[in-house]
Amino acid sequence: MEHKLPELPWSNDALAPHISPETIEYHYGKHHAAYVSKLNDGIKGTEFENSSLEDIIKKSKGGLFNNAAQVWNHTFYWNCLAPNAGGAPTGAVAEKINAKWGSFDKFKEEFSNSAATNFGSGWTWLVTDGSGELSILNTDDADTPMTHGLNALMTIDVWEHAYYVDYRNARPSYIEAFWKLVNWDFVNSNL
Ligand code: MN
Repeated sequence: MEHKLPELPWSNDALAPHISPETIEYHYGKHHAAYVSKLNDGIKGTEFENSSLEDIIKKSKGGLFNNAAQVWNHTFYWNCLAPNAGGAPTGAVAEKINAKWGSFDKFKEEFSNSAATNFGSGWTWLVTDGSGELSILNTDDADTPMTHGLNALMTIDVWEHAYYVDYRNARPSYIEAFWKLVNWDFVNSNL
């Protein structure tokens, strides 16, 4: 089964000025595409040749896991972003955030701090556990909530390739921009 690079839910310039077309061209067109290509190469002749992406993530290790998880993580990340979005959350997720952190501002502060201090390459997530309890999770490299038995609601990619073109080393500036792009409808749909 050949895995495909999913189409973006918006055009390359839709997230500007917060995320530039050049970042999308490289991050999606080169990095995400390379994970898909390496995944397709890696599964050839293995037990995973006809497996779903989720099955590969749950059952593989090493390079195959890294490429499969990065394919999933990036597709999820693009869906977390949208033009004319961001600001305060809406719907059920807003209620759950307020119940857990007291206010959106407090949640935003904690999530931003986790993302800013997530050492090296990784991802920062809003997740729910089996009981529906919200929490903030930092993962390293390609690691993903699925392998921890957690359900992803929202993520920010904090690998340098996500922000270096637009913000150089200033990860906090990129995190601030992220809040202007969060697609709360998608976040709610993951509850
Ligand atoms: Mn990335």
